[in-house]
Amino acid sequence: MASISFRNINKFYEASQAVADFNLEIADGEFVVLVGPSGCGKTTSLRMLAGLEQPTGGRIYLGGQDITDVPSKSRALAMVFQSYALYPHMTVAENISFALTLQKVPKSEIARQVQQAAALLGIDHLLSRKPRALSGGQRQRVAVARAIIRNPQAFLFDEPLSNLDAKLRHSARVEIRKLQQNLGTTTVYVTHDQIEAMTMADRIVVMEGGRIRQVGTPMELYRNPNSKFVASFLGSPPTNFIDGECVHENGSARFVAESMEIPLNPMTASGPVTVGIRPEHITPVKTASDQIRISGGVRFVEALGAETLVDLDLGVAPAASRTVTARLAGQHNLAAGTKLEIGFSPRDMMLFDAQGNAVSGAFC
Ligand code: ATP
Repeated sequence: MASISFRNINKFYEASQAVADFNLEIADGEFVVLVGPSGCGKTTSLRMLAGLEQPTGGRIYLGGQDITDVPSKSRALAMVFQSYALYPHMTVAENISFALTLQKVPKSEIARQVQQAAALLGIDHLLSRKPRALSGGQRQRVAVARAIIRNPQAFLFDEPLSNLDAKLRHSARVEIRKLQQNLGTTTVYVTHDQIEAMTMADRIVVMEGGRIRQVGTPMELYRNPNSKFVASFLGSPPTNFIDGECVHENGSARFVAESMEIPLNPMTASGPVTVGIRPEHITPVKTASDQIRISGGVRFVEALGAETLVDLDLGVAPAASRTVTARLAGQHNLAAGTKLEIGFSPRDMMLFDAQGNAVSGAFC
């Protein structure tokens, strides 16, 4: 087990910059998830840690040791790839034990450790099979068992669940998290799936365009995103945004989007701004004593059983931001075209300036 530091890491592929000014301190035993849209530099960052790519600038430390120039095979790290990268001609047992065989560990000791790792992952009945005779979920477990057996200082995961169906993804993420908590091994996990990030991470690193946009616990990022980008990336369905203006008059300030007006802290700067409200923070008015009330025309309803997603046209704000999604608990019999009165509380609202940066304390 060990801490990990990325210090001033930059990575260029010829003229294009894949990772820029990447600085991150990961504590011993921490589970950190790198998340962001395709091409934001997650995999490149992980591959530099693994030693599969060389940074153009900056240093990487593992357990306080500078490993930037240490070859990949000499770094005490174990990586689980999206493809699992199992050897097709080897059995499950041979795949799991491969690293120990190379290290010339005695056969009886290898057998003991393979049995232990396989039992931990619930695949001890599959040891004599070849990878082609395994399901996707079983292959994924073999890949994790192969990582565990090396007893690494850190685990690196690159989208390990993306080949699994939704149900299996859920159980696999619970299993990986439990296993990591039991072993206490520092883990860096790459995904573009915000649900994996929210449910697995001690801390999430949100990346965009090669740069870190925000680092924090899942709840810090959910409650206090520092930008429209982070607010839109975490949460499902995504945050609703309503474009408007901050207008000052007689010493007070308000958000104005056509007929919609919301009081703002007088310290808020005038000009174009955007309000953010999460779908789960919108409620039908009759069930809550919200301060902000508005009615909208129902456009589309998705009944999911436990909850109902309703797209509403508020008839305010520019066309691009006048439809909001409300995530209402339970079942609601709402026909398209009917009017629905909704409400939301200022304490749940977010405000962003014209550059997309969060404005703190904007709502009174
Ligand atoms: P994804 O979720 O799609 O895997 P990512 O966030 O992991 O994306 P990276 O794979 O790290 O993104 O890529 C970051 C940027 O670097 C992208 O613009 C990508 O095209 C570029 N890139 C990655 N590898 C190479 C390479 N070997 N040569 C040139 N450009 C590369």
